[in-house]
Amino acid sequence: MTHDEMWKAVLDNDKSYDGIFFYAVKTTGIYCRPSCKSKRPKRENICFFNSSKEASDAGFRPCKRCRSDLLDYQPINEIAKGTKRLLDESFFKKSELNDELRALGVSERRMAEIFKQKYGVTPSEYVNSLRLEEAQLLLVETNDDIIDISYSVGFTGLSSFYRFFKNRTGFSPALYRKEHKR
Ligand SMILES: [Zn+2]
Repeated sequence: MTHDEMWKAVLDNDKSYDGIFFYAVKTTGIYCRPSCKSKRPKRENICFFNSSKEASDAGFRPCKRCRSDLLDYQPINEIAKGTKRLLDESFFKKSELNDELRALGVSERRMAEIFKQKYGVTPSEYVNSLRLEEAQLLLVETNDDIIDISYSVGFTGLSSFYRFFKNRTGFSPALYRKEHKR
């Protein structure tokens, strides 16, 4: 997350960033959560911390108004891990997946940022790699019809599956099967 994004969250009093970072005001010596409704600080006077502990270690006191000391969890890891677990379990069921991801309580954009920060790829890139792996496995290990395979890895039609597969492997699904089947 960039300082610009964090600053914007402070300006917006954005609650969804609470616990993800803290800001401290050098002139008052106090640190707050992003959603704090206290007087808006000047940007040049603030610095950012990942946890309340870091802020207090740096000599800042918690804010009495937003009780920034009572919020010392770091949900980033939890969100990233929860997202990955969901993707691993249900990458082939697109509609349900979206509902479940919503239940994690962060915007899709935030979730994608958090995921990418931890795993180095976006959730959709990750899902695509799961789909590709599964499709390759099914092509080689089973005699299932290619159209059935395309549905079972989460595609809604053969042509989109074909394009996807060919793009990534250089083979059509049928040729891939022929070349790799033992
Ligand atoms: Zn505060």
